[in-house]
Amino acid sequence: MAAKYIFVTGGVTSSLGKGIISASLAKLLQARGFSVTIQKFDPYINIDPGTLNPYEHGECFVTEDGAETDLDLGHYERYLNAPTSQANNVTTGRIYNHVIMQEREGAYLGKTVQVIPHITDEIKRRMLLLGQTGEYDIVITEIGGCVGDIESLPFIEAVRQLRWELGSNETCVIHLTLLPYLKAAGELKTKPTQHSVRDLSEAGVQPDILVCRSEHPVPSDLRKKIALFCNVKQNAVIESLDAETIYDVPLLMRKEKLDERVISKLKLPQRSEPELDTWKEFLGRLKNPTAEVNIALVGKYVELPDAYKSIIESFVHAGAANECKVKLKTFQSENINPDNVATLLGSMDAVLVAPGFGERGFQGKLESIKFVRENKIPFLGICLGMQCAAVEFARNVLGLEGAASTEMYPDTPHPIIDMMADQKEITQKGGTMRLGAYTCELKKGSKAYSIYGKQKITERHRHRYEFNNKYLEDFEKAGMLASGINPETGLVEVIELQNHPWFVAAQYHPELKSTVLNPHPLFVKFIKAAINYAKSK
Ligand code: GLN
Repeated sequence: MAAKYIFVTGGVTSSLGKGIISASLAKLLQARGFSVTIQKFDPYINIDPGTLNPYEHGECFVTEDGAETDLDLGHYERYLNAPTSQANNVTTGRIYNHVIMQEREGAYLGKTVQVIPHITDEIKRRMLLLGQTGEYDIVITEIGGCVGDIESLPFIEAVRQLRWELGSNETCVIHLTLLPYLKAAGELKTKPTQHSVRDLSEAGVQPDILVCRSEHPVPSDLRKKIALFCNVKQNAVIESLDAETIYDVPLLMRKEKLDERVISKLKLPQRSEPELDTWKEFLGRLKNPTAEVNIALVGKYVELPDAYKSIIESFVHAGAANECKVKLKTFQSENINPDNVATLLGSMDAVLVAPGFGERGFQGKLESIKFVRENKIPFLGICLGMQCAAVEFARNVLGLEGAASTEMYPDTPHPIIDMMADQKEITQKGGTMRLGAYTCELKKGSKAYSIYGKQKITERHRHRYEFNNKYLEDFEKAGMLASGINPETGLVEVIELQNHPWFVAAQYHPELKSTVLNPHPLFVKFIKAAINYAKSK
């Protein structure tokens, strides 16, 4: 069967949760036996979000094939338990870049290159790409931004053309809107929804289904009114209430029969009820914890939780796996100093030092690590967090004064962390880090080996700097073991402290591979260590 295409657009405001709705619908369809993928088209001009400050756009999610992508792809992977790739995230910048390069090559010789048809053709080509691989029954395309924005127009036009070209049973448009609640009037208001559907219709796209975000249940007379004014069937007006956890949303959408509406619109074969047993078991464990731990997340982007999305979700998965409520407390590393570190982190059951870039907050990360190392509090360091652990150890255990990473201090006398050799020639910033999946070999008998239960692992990366192997012998002699090594390059991937109950740090990003069905072993065991530590206090 040729793939069918679902488009998810949004109106009224941003941040309505299109990514979660798309992932939830995909989950329901997958649970009915369809093979589904989700892709995101973003209207900004950056080629990818790799060059964006996390404060701008949240975390940059890295795929197996090394694409730097929107954080919604993280949700797609966590819900579907299947990897995405470069093809799953396209930006306006990438589209234009391609068209302009084609133009320079002479592909349009003699023609005026225009938004319509050249840009829209390229958007359509990419929208169909994953569907043409033969791997998927259904491709869900989430269109970033809001309908009515100037920058969204070419995407909406591409959807309009595709609907016309493919025929009406081959595509389905789901429009996500907001029903604001006016407290004084005690009413949910439908006008913004009507306006945003009108914007979409004016662009030639009539939505098939409306998903209405609301803080209150949407009564049937209101659904009828929305249906009438927005030109959809009444049973295609779906309510989406605020959920206790984002992992409830597939079940809430099931209750509202979103999957059934899509199946009937696309004339897909009706298959039996979605098989959601393992999903429900996960929710059962998540909501009925038997233990509780306080975990510190030390980072410099903590004011915007989206900057650490995958880490936060990994804790949710790992908490559920341990039937343990994880109370995550964030700490701005800039504010941590030798005088307050004990007060701030002293009551924590475990501490995670986050990935990051640049000098700001670096010192506070070192202080946090010194504190957990000396007080034997479970510690997990990720990427920059691992590099900080190495620097802290060099300064305070090996006594190498001024030891540092050359990222922050290029003139350090002890470059414990240094730029990777093949990075030194690179001048371009976008997409040039060591990105994506690489293998790592774990040393038998190490903590890392016991955590993974195997020797060979692959994990995803995003960094330019690495542990300087000149210092490796001194580190190991003093009790910091390099327990994971990349077999091809000898690059240190995992370090762990020997005389400490749980001190593990990784150059890679384990949080990018944690899913509902496969919680990441490092996080699972880290929570377990926190539970044990809490008990021992
Ligand atoms: N800034 C460090 C590097 O480039 C760490 C990167 C990260 O934490 N993702 O190597």
